[in-house]
Amino acid sequence: MPNSLGSTDPQVASIIRREELRQLSTIELIASENFTSQAVMQAVGSVLTNKYAEGLPGKRYYGGCEVVDEAETLAIERAKELFGAAHVNVQPHSGASANIAAYLAVAQPGDRILGMNLSEGGHLTHGSPVNFSGRLFEAHFYGVSPDTETIDYDNVRAIAQRVRPKVIVCGASAYSRTIDFAAFRAIADDVGALLFADIAHIAGIVAARMHPTPIGHAQLTTTTTHKTLRGPRGGMIMSDESHGALVDKTVFPGMQGGPLMHVIAGKAVAFGEALKPAFRDYISTVLANARALAETIQEHGLRVVSGGTDNHLMLVDLTALGISGRKAERVLEAAGMTANKNAIPNDTRPPTQTSGIRLGTPAMTTRGMTPDHMRTIGRWIAEVLHTPDDLAKIASVRAQVHDLTSAFPLPGVERPSAHDD
Ligand SMILES: *Cc1c(COP(=O)(O)O)cnc(C)c1O
Repeated sequence: MPNSLGSTDPQVASIIRREELRQLSTIELIASENFTSQAVMQAVGSVLTNKYAEGLPGKRYYGGCEVVDEAETLAIERAKELFGAAHVNVQPHSGASANIAAYLAVAQPGDRILGMNLSEGGHLTHGSPVNFSGRLFEAHFYGVSPDTETIDYDNVRAIAQRVRPKVIVCGASAYSRTIDFAAFRAIADDVGALLFADIAHIAGIVAARMHPTPIGHAQLTTTTTHKTLRGPRGGMIMSDESHGALVDKTVFPGMQGGPLMHVIAGKAVAFGEALKPAFRDYISTVLANARALAETIQEHGLRVVSGGTDNHLMLVDLTALGISGRKAERVLEAAGMTANKNAIPNDTRPPTQTSGIRLGTPAMTTRGMTPDHMRTIGRWIAEVLHTPDDLAKIASVRAQVHDLTSAFPLPGVERPSAHDD
């Protein structure tokens, strides 16, 4: 794309360029991040941002929507094909917005919901008191078993029988094991609840058919489009046929105004990419990379929650090292590796400190890294976390990170030239 921002607004242009260089020269291990394609960014950076299109394709409140209608219809059709969903709404601005609409489509303020505890892997929007979901609904929680650190479905059933929720939410932000949607549906049926699956993290793995799908089990399924699905930042709601009209009117006029047509075009591009065979290869490498990373850090004396991973992420328990997640995040960042502190099950430290970090492989797999690279990175992580105050060690890993990342392209980003120095 011709870029004139450098002359029209050098301040913002410089911020963008410096962020490009940061992304280019660091190892991105934040499990919820990815690098979207240049094609997606071109759609998102297009004139579609100018268009108001309240309503749905063919049923808009404004004129001039005939062209953008095609973008939204394409995004919907591609999403249906990708996930096998009966009904799709691609308008939610984010994963959290998709969740607001999903709840409000089927529940009233004051209703009981049952979700996964934030501190054991769930998301803020699954009932946290600081979030709309915990303020609007009477939230109850299930967690993981203290022994296996995995979801204990018998326990979920017992809580559901006691609570009798209107909606059961499953899906997580920091859970490395396969989620059994059929088991959740059986529990929901047992207590007369609706099942709402939030696959924000694992959507790409579900699309690639390498994680069981909630479609056919959950009446409502939401996702982000920017995590493993590798599209533009945004959300989406899938539902069975009978909840489709409710979902649509809860998104608009219920919750949002005009949809972001440029982002919806970007979603269409991303879904088109995910329908290609190369996407399955990508996801299969994401999973192999996560297994290699988990194995390596365990070989080097770090404890991985639940002993490993079935998906793209893992939680590392830092308790034995005597450092907090906050400190680990800082040390890793100084060494050129970006990750986030994260609570682990039964964490004894507050959420601002935590005893864990979360690591994920979607982003570096997009840049072309393989299990061999993950073993190198896993060794570096273990080295700096074992000696977090060894500044020479951190500097030496930082230099090696710089060397390694210089061999891997970043979609849509030019390498540094003399001009950048
Ligand atoms: C990331 C995430 C969300 C929220 O997505 P945003 O786009 O950040 O609003 C919702 N649910 C789960 C499980 C997530 O991991």
